[in-house]
Amino acid sequence: MTESQESIREIRINPIVPAESVLVATARGMRPRKAEELAPRDTRKHVDTCPFCRGNEDKTPPTIAAYPDEDSWEVRIVENLYPVLGDDRSRSTLMFGLQQAIDGYGRHEVVIDHHAHGIALHEMTEPHIALMFRVFRDRMRELYASDERLRYVLAFKNFGPAAGASIPHTHSQIIATPVVPQNVHDEVENSRAHYRKHQQCIFCTLIDEALTFEATIYDRSSGSIRRRINVGQYVVERGERFIAIKPFASRFEWEVHILPLEHQSDYTRLDEADLADFARVLRRTMARLDAVIGGAQFNYFLHTQPHGPEYADCAPSYHWHLEICPRTSIPTGFELGSGLFVSTISPEIAAEQLRAVKL
Ligand SMILES: [Zn+2]
Ligand SMILES: [Zn+2]
Ligand SMILES: [Zn+2]
Repeated sequence: MTESQESIREIRINPIVPAESVLVATARGMRPRKAEELAPRDTRKHVDTCPFCRGNEDKTPPTIAAYPDEDSWEVRIVENLYPVLGDDRSRSTLMFGLQQAIDGYGRHEVVIDHHAHGIALHEMTEPHIALMFRVFRDRMRELYASDERLRYVLAFKNFGPAAGASIPHTHSQIIATPVVPQNVHDEVENSRAHYRKHQQCIFCTLIDEALTFEATIYDRSSGSIRRRINVGQYVVERGERFIAIKPFASRFEWEVHILPLEHQSDYTRLDEADLADFARVLRRTMARLDAVIGGAQFNYFLHTQPHGPEYADCAPSYHWHLEICPRTSIPTGFELGSGLFVSTISPEIAAEQLRAVKL
């Protein structure tokens, strides 16, 4: 038994957003979270009654865009039938005492990722995954150009009933809002403060540490080894331009982040070579997760530099990334009440298991 397999009980501080810290508690019997009862995911290829399947285009709200074209589409964007934000531009901010509400103006669109109904991400081809992420990039550019009040375009995916997907056909969503979501705001502000202090992007520093750091930490009183940090310990997958990392303090047991190896703040500037390598790293990461968890149901979302003059100076300090959060257990009252998420598998062991998958 190596020291990394001994039980851990420690609060790990997220280096970018300290408020999003995690309690890593791997001791046997330490199972405060209930395993998510995964409703089986729909794996059918085609469903006659599904509005997102090919041939049923007349059953969805109007098409916003289709790629490569409307008849033989591979990816299609449609209006969301139940938008969480409306297109009403006439109303403004409402303020009453301590109640402040910003009008829910924005755009909410559905991206039908693939014509095959229940296909999982790792089952798609890499060119298809590159197309999906090119569509996100192009749609972000179009939305920002369409309305200068928009500050953030969030692209995300809920896959499987455990991740909140209400329609079984594989799809993603795009939400454009006049406010920056709080967790992006926290990352942006904290990384900007780090940059002011150290003249370095904190995400680049994290990548450097993951690729080069090696250390042995001893217990001061007993002299025994407390932790050994090995080079590449948190690396799940590495491409030419992208890296998939298991964060040292991750809220979800199998959470993995994908980041560009070279500093890039703005997702909308992604080029074709980036897309190809990103698709490869993402597909391989998803295949690893699927193999280890056994049918991964997950959320993922893109975090990128917000739009607008107040964020223009974040180019050197912010670093875009994709956060993948597989859903394997249900947050408890302890977690919701404290904001401290509990992980019962150590991120080091999780990364090791993911790396060990033979692809
Ligand atoms: Zn379908
Ligand atoms: Zn960076
Ligand atoms: Zn993030």
